[in-house]
Amino acid sequence: KGQIDDAKRQASAEIAAARAESAEASARTKAVEKQLKDAVEKGEADLRQLDRQHAAETVALMERNERDVEKLQRQMEDDRASADSARAALEEQMAAAATAAQEAVERAEKDAMRAVDEAKAAKANEGKIRQHLETMKDMIQEAKVVDQRNAVLDRDMRRELERRKKLHEYVEDLKGKIRVYVRVRPMSESEEGKGCGSAYTKNNATSVTYLQPDKAPPEDKKNFDFDKIFAGTPDMGNGQHQVFEDVKQLVLSCIEGTNVCIFAYGQTGSGKTFTMVGPGGAIGSNIDSSTGQPLDAAGVTPRAAVELFNVLQERDALCTAEVDVSMYELYCDALVDLLKEPSRPGQKEPDLKVKLAQHTESGLVEVQNGTICRASTLQELTDILEAGVRNRSTQSTKMNAESSRSHLVMSFVIRSTNRRSGVVTSGKLTLVDLAGSERVDKSGAEGQRLKEAQSINKSLSAIGDVVGALTSGTKHIPYRNHTLTTLMSDSIGGSAKTVMMVCCSPADYNAVESVNALSFAVRCKNVKNMTAANPAAAAAQVQSLRQELARLKKAKGAADEGPKKGGAGGRRK
Ligand code: ADP
Ligand code: MG
Repeated sequence: KGQIDDAKRQASAEIAAARAESAEASARTKAVEKQLKDAVEKGEADLRQLDRQHAAETVALMERNERDVEKLQRQMEDDRASADSARAALEEQMAAAATAAQEAVERAEKDAMRAVDEAKAAKANEGKIRQHLETMKDMIQEAKVVDQRNAVLDRDMRRELERRKKLHEYVEDLKGKIRVYVRVRPMSESEEGKGCGSAYTKNNATSVTYLQPDKAPPEDKKNFDFDKIFAGTPDMGNGQHQVFEDVKQLVLSCIEGTNVCIFAYGQTGSGKTFTMVGPGGAIGSNIDSSTGQPLDAAGVTPRAAVELFNVLQERDALCTAEVDVSMYELYCDALVDLLKEPSRPGQKEPDLKVKLAQHTESGLVEVQNGTICRASTLQELTDILEAGVRNRSTQSTKMNAESSRSHLVMSFVIRSTNRRSGVVTSGKLTLVDLAGSERVDKSGAEGQRLKEAQSINKSLSAIGDVVGALTSGTKHIPYRNHTLTTLMSDSIGGSAKTVMMVCCSPADYNAVESVNALSFAVRCKNVKNMTAANPAAAAAQVQSLRQELARLKKAKGAADEGPKKGGAGGRRK
């Protein structure tokens, strides 16, 4: 029982402890319940609080949203306004641009219109311009032509001055004199056949010595001094062109208004025809028809014809010219007009009468009823001369088969008119191929031949007398003593320039005839200054020289001035 009571007291302590514990637990449950209840209440309060809070937040949010929306709306409105204004500005700009574009288009259109108008006007003008251009072209062409003509004139002028200088010297030298050239041809076949020896020695350019087989020493040789000696073959300086080179100046002198005479003197067969015309006496065949140039064998006449037309051609810019040709043969004292048309049967031949220069208007010898043929070209001139040569009545003598027993006188009157000044200048070129100078006895002539020979001697003596009178200075020159000298009166003496070509055979067989011819030429050489001996003639010559000088000065002045349009007449277009 102490244990039971201990267990009872323990159990009772435990019951009491359990009870305390249960009370405590119940208190605790009650506290928890309270706590729970508080917590619920608090939760509910919190919830309510939260609800309230949420509601307030929602309101605030909504308010903020509203504000935001409002703000956005305002912003949008602002944006719209600015967009509107931007658009308006843009529209304005666009309108301005459109206007500008429109204006530009209008301007461009206007420009285009104007351009079109201008083009139209230009087109209309084009015709005028073209015309103008054509005129310009014409003017340029004309200027070119004038320029060329100027150049030609200039060249011509310079050449002329050069030529004139030479000519002046030559003419001065020749004036009042008879220039004498000697031409000794090569030995002919017949002379060689005869075994002839040479009869001459050419000492130098102006001196020749001939044998005189009929004389005894010391006179068996004779020296002759002349202006020039041509002897031998062409390679020895005795070619046709070399002989012509020396007389060429005279053609120009003639165109300048001087009377010139070139005559060949010598026995038959000595080379007169060869010298004056060419081999066989043919003229046309001595000129190359394609080139218009003289052939090597051509003598003085064809060469002079070529030179004459060459110079006239060169001077075409300065003057127009006419060439009048006449051609006579003097056979047995009878004058034959070689250019006369053949007369009809039964028709009476008109009498030919030679008038001295002092009795004619032209101041030149004239043949009444004589034929004058105008030659405008070289071809025409050679045709005329050919026709005349064909009319010659040549006969052969015992001395040479081809000889001519008549004198041939060819004259070219050259009348040139200065295109500007209108001054007319006339000169006469006379070319004479005389009949043979041999003595009658040697030719063994009888009958008609004798008559021929006598008549030839008479005519040559007449030339001798004229030359003699000119040499001695007598007032009276016996031109009228013979038809031949009358015909040559304007070409020998006075202010005429005369060249005598003394033709000689080189053979000793013909030496006497050669010496005779040379001796005759010595008389001609002695003609010094014909005018000095004759005061009236001297005065006349001074006058004519003055005129010539004035004319030259005038012509030079005119040429220096240059060409003028539509100069004084003439052929110029
Ligand atoms: P002329 O007329 O004086 O009677 P030609 O002129 O008829 O003499 O000449 C006689 C001959 O001599 C001709 O056959 C001619 O061809 C020739 N002859 C003359 N001179 C020369 C010369 N310089 N050179 C060559 N042959 C010439
Ligand atoms: Mg002859």
